[in-house]
Amino acid sequence: MISCDCAANHARKRIVLTGGPGSGKTAVLELIRIFFCRHVVRLREAAGIVFGGGFPRSAEVPARQAGQRAIFHVQRELECVADAQNAAVVLCDRGTVDGAAYWLGESDLFSSVGTTLEAELRRYDSVIHLRTPSADNGYDHTNPLRTETAREAAVIDERLKRFWSPHPRVHEVPATQDFLTKATRALALLRAEVPTCCRTGLVDFPWNHQM
Ligand SMILES: [Zn+2]
Ligand SMILES: [Zn+2]
Repeated sequence: MISCDCAANHARKRIVLTGGPGSGKTAVLELIRIFFCRHVVRLREAAGIVFGGGFPRSAEVPARQAGQRAIFHVQRELECVADAQNAAVVLCDRGTVDGAAYWLGESDLFSSVGTTLEAELRRYDSVIHLRTPSADNGYDHTNPLRTETAREAAVIDERLKRFWSPHPRVHEVPATQDFLTKATRALALLRAEVPTCCRTGLVDFPWNHQM
């Protein structure tokens, strides 16, 4: 994390970083941790808290729906915690809309938790969508934790695109053969959202000359 002594009162922006399986989201978040100041507050991924905390992960449709509702509510409350921290940017590792892409069976996530897609889209100032690479363009098959096949990953990524697309400020970052190009684009998009008071300490990303 770069040091920053900004004492301004920030008008907080809430920004979503999303992407299907294999999109490189975790790696990009790690770069964000290194290259931005403490006023860019990163939230943990709600699904990791829910399932990592022991919420049952069973395959039955009602259980999967319950899991998505739990993730939705944890995400909402994570955002409440971050809102109390004078952040310039609250960076969400997925937003409340993401769960719709993983919803199976009857009804839909939003009516199931008493909201609408439109209301959830309004929670966020902008969206950075890291697209999942196609099977022949760098999808990583070697990660044993990744149960989705490349085809399933592409389906989820398309569903994410569909649910977020009505948002007025969606920035898509296409998959590239060279991951650093993709990461640099994502970091540049985030940098543009950081207010000038918190940009003084921002350094050039060391591989920027490759752009
Ligand atoms: Zn600032
Ligand atoms: Zn700062």
